[in-house]
Amino acid sequence: MGKSIFLGLVLNTALLIALGLIYNLIRGLTRITNRYVKETLIGLSTGAIGIAIMGTPWVLMEGVVFDTRSVLISISGMFFGTIPTIIGMVMMSLFRLSSGGSGMEMGIATVVVCGSIGIIWRNVRQGKVKKISLSELYLFGIVVHLGMMLCTLFLPEASREFVFKAISLPVLVIYPVAELLLGWMLLNGEETLKTRVALVESESKFRRLFDTVDEAIFLLDREGRVLDSNKGAERMFGYSSHDLLNQGADFFAAPGKNDVSQVNQFTQRAFDGESKSFEFWVIRKNGEVFLSLVKLYPATFKDENAVIALAIDLSERIKHELELKEAKDRAESANKLKSNFLANMSHELRTPMIGIMGYSEMIMETEESPEIKRSGEKIFESAQRLMQTLNLILDLSKIESGYTEINSSRFDVISVIKDMTSKLQVSAAKKNLTFVFKSTLNELFVVTDPRLLHHVFANLFDNALKFTHEGGVEISLELEVIKRSKWLVLVVKDTGIGISEQDQSIIWDEFRQVSEGWGRGYEGTGLGLSLTKRFIKKMGGEIRVESRLGEGSTFIVKLPYNEDTRVTGSEEEVMEMIESVDKLETTMDTEFSTILIVDDDDISLDVTVAFLKHHYTVHTAKNVVEAFELINKNRYSIILLDINLGKGVTGFQILEELKKRPDYAGVPVIAVTAYAMAGDKAVFLRAGCTDYVSKPFTRSTLLKVCEKVTSGK
Ligand code: ADP
Repeated sequence: MGKSIFLGLVLNTALLIALGLIYNLIRGLTRITNRYVKETLIGLSTGAIGIAIMGTPWVLMEGVVFDTRSVLISISGMFFGTIPTIIGMVMMSLFRLSSGGSGMEMGIATVVVCGSIGIIWRNVRQGKVKKISLSELYLFGIVVHLGMMLCTLFLPEASREFVFKAISLPVLVIYPVAELLLGWMLLNGEETLKTRVALVESESKFRRLFDTVDEAIFLLDREGRVLDSNKGAERMFGYSSHDLLNQGADFFAAPGKNDVSQVNQFTQRAFDGESKSFEFWVIRKNGEVFLSLVKLYPATFKDENAVIALAIDLSERIKHELELKEAKDRAESANKLKSNFLANMSHELRTPMIGIMGYSEMIMETEESPEIKRSGEKIFESAQRLMQTLNLILDLSKIESGYTEINSSRFDVISVIKDMTSKLQVSAAKKNLTFVFKSTLNELFVVTDPRLLHHVFANLFDNALKFTHEGGVEISLELEVIKRSKWLVLVVKDTGIGISEQDQSIIWDEFRQVSEGWGRGYEGTGLGLSLTKRFIKKMGGEIRVESRLGEGSTFIVKLPYNEDTRVTGSEEEVMEMIESVDKLETTMDTEFSTILIVDDDDISLDVTVAFLKHHYTVHTAKNVVEAFELINKNRYSIILLDINLGKGVTGFQILEELKKRPDYAGVPVIAVTAYAMAGDKAVFLRAGCTDYVSKPFTRSTLLKVCEKVTSGK
């Protein structure tokens, strides 16, 4: 009997352990998510193992067999829960029923009682069996087996006492220990399961992350073969991850476009710990070739060294770059067109203007009849106004296309305003207005663009006078320190019509005026303030207005004060030119007074001759050949040179020739041209011209320049 008890116990223990393992295995099946399916599977396994246990019992007496079913079913009740335990109980009871014998009732009762104790204990513990202690498990074992002892009551009376005595010791001593061991095993399994579940969860989280990114990610071995790849790689290359497995760099490489052996070297180095990134031409499954940026990082995979390769598809970026370059090229050529257009416009508009202004000036000066003289004056005034508008529109286009350059020079801003004031006081007096300039400074030298500054002053002063009918205009200019830097603050205050708050926002817009439409009350283009604002911005300053309708306006301009006399870039060269011109002027001899005018335009030539003929002996040439015929025959004190001589010939060619002739060294050459865009003057001076006059010009401007270059004043 002893031997059969021992064997039975060993087999039973092995089966109990098997149940523990099966239970943990089923619990760990992550693919089965339905709880009831899992519980049914556990119940069936419990029943099956219970039947196996009941099949390897030790026989106490004929028809009375013992095994560890009590341990199994009670542990099931406690750890697996109600459903699996009931399934197990039903299967085991049916089996015991089919075996028959005198111990059948007790056998079934044991299954039911022990299983129920387990279920009840679990429910009392509210299912929190994971926290059960070993001593509680032991106690549980004793209670279960006391219950089992009670089941001996179901034995026939004759054998009851004998059986009770025979089994009570092993049942109450060994079985609770078995209960304890099996329980402990399950508790341990529970812990392992928890860690495994956490691991699986973190792995799937990582996988999701790995698969979400657009970039292709590969895990490579030392030889650069793919160990794993993400969904991004599938999308990028068009292969399934299975197809990509074990592939090397040559599989991905676009034929003939890379040095694959070098890529393999990079991978090996990354394997040894050195990260690397490089561009790599690759090919998709559909044959499309594209450039990728590959980054290699050292990594570990299953405790072994590995390489993570990240591939970024650069085709979109390259496409964008190309588009950007195309757009840039288009913008540049449009800009070039615009600049050509501006230059041509400027030239073409100025050239006929010389006829209008020149002849009207001649009419004004030479005509006896006062009526015709007045007509001449009107033509001249209209032409001047037209020129102003043309200049404004050109300025606007220039500033819009970025052609407005800052041509700084150093000058006394106080004397500039004083000059302007004295002229404007005459117009103010005609309207019975005062025009006053106040400043605590006697002089203030600034380094800025005189033309831009002049425009700003002129526009604000003219507007103040134009929109004032009573009282007058007061201007002040002071130097102020704001936030530790010095600023020029110009205030132009008038007692005029004022601007409503609503209109204060539109006056800065191009072509906008407060009074617009057919019945507008004031002349003007509506460009002045918009250009003024842009010029001020270009000079680094700001402008604002304070005004109320009917109560006058105050325009306040703040400009950064720069007393530094340094002038940058090409401007420096121009300044040098100007200085050298000044030197030249002082050394010039003035005994010659014959002028050569080279111009292909009859009207220009005619007007220029008319302006100069009383002061100089004037010769004219209409092209290069004529010019040199005259230059070879005569000695000129000044050469007035038109730059565009038509038919592709430029005045620069004459200039170049003159420079080579020692007899013409020091003879001033004045560029007289309709090229009057910003920067043009600098170009002519740099090319070697002594001075520059833009068309159209007035008689006095032309005479002044000629006088300047010959007399050295
Ligand atoms: P323009 O004077 O050629 O119309 P501006 O751009 O210089 O163009 O001015 C825009 C508008 O701003 C003017 O038409 C006028 O309505 C308003 N404005 C400018 N200066 C003053 C001022 N000092 N007083 C009243 N209104 C002014």
